[in-house]
Amino acid sequence: MIPKKFITNAATEVGFDLVGVVPVEPLTKERNCYEEWLLAGNHSSMAYLERNREKRFDASLLVEGARSIVVCAVSYLSPFSRGYADGVRGKVASYALARDYHLTIKEMLAELAERLKTIAPSLKFRAFTDSAPVAEKTLAVRAGFGWIGRQSLVVNPKLGTMMLLGELVINETVDEYSEPMRDVGCGSCRRCVESCPNSAILDNRLIDTRRCISCRTIEREWEGEAVNLDGWIFGCDACQSVCPFNHHAPLHRYPKFDPKFDPMDIDWESLTEEEFSTIAGDTPLTRAGLERIRKNL
Ligand code: SF4
Ligand code: SF4
Repeated sequence: MIPKKFITNAATEVGFDLVGVVPVEPLTKERNCYEEWLLAGNHSSMAYLERNREKRFDASLLVEGARSIVVCAVSYLSPFSRGYADGVRGKVASYALARDYHLTIKEMLAELAERLKTIAPSLKFRAFTDSAPVAEKTLAVRAGFGWIGRQSLVVNPKLGTMMLLGELVINETVDEYSEPMRDVGCGSCRRCVESCPNSAILDNRLIDTRRCISCRTIEREWEGEAVNLDGWIFGCDACQSVCPFNHHAPLHRYPKFDPKFDPMDIDWESLTEEEFSTIAGDTPLTRAGLERIRKNL
């Protein structure tokens, strides 16, 4: 058994802003909601979301011997997260201006696991960050990070929504598990819903990805109805930039989330592949590639 306090101290030293620990158990209610969302076709071109549904909502099927999940979050909020001037083109979601979070968070989780091994030498673990079927947002709520906002993202009262999540599924129990926050929520605010250029935010905190710019600029291209990309060429922050909790949140403190370039300084039309690689080298933009970015533009 590992003391929760040791885990939270270690995660903070590694650079995470929030940490909680939840027991491994099936997330039945959340799975039912997810199934309904899939059934309505809201996942559009992301067919991979149909796979591994059992594992997504039960970590014991994902990692043999799993007992606990250490849930971590780190802020990436930068001045770009506050939004762009009206009417500009070439906008990039602020997380994508920094080094690819998959790389950074995997490194942070590996470092955390090494620290845990100093008091639990037989620790076995697997690290996840938006790269495997894990119900990350549900786990974050259970870990006490906040609530699911109307735009379907986790809202933390201090850090807002510009956070990235990572999980360490471990074969150890802890002396005390985290609890969800109580008496928190969006209240009567609907700013994110009203800000969406394509009305992609549905009731019940769900997103119709067929109309979501973030999906339409990054994921596999969708043959359905054309949507207004509103000047975005990779991702979309519109429903987050307006959130009052992001207005009060501090800027990120982990240096690897520093933005690497200002998208407004770049002439995307004339950029060569070599220049693209120099500018966007290890950022998530390479996932889409220059050709797709130009098409989005
Ligand atoms: S990311 Fe953009 S398009 Fe998608 S729901 Fe939010 S505001 Fe709408
Ligand atoms: S903008 Fe308002 S409704 Fe949307 S997540 Fe933030 S607080 Fe909730």
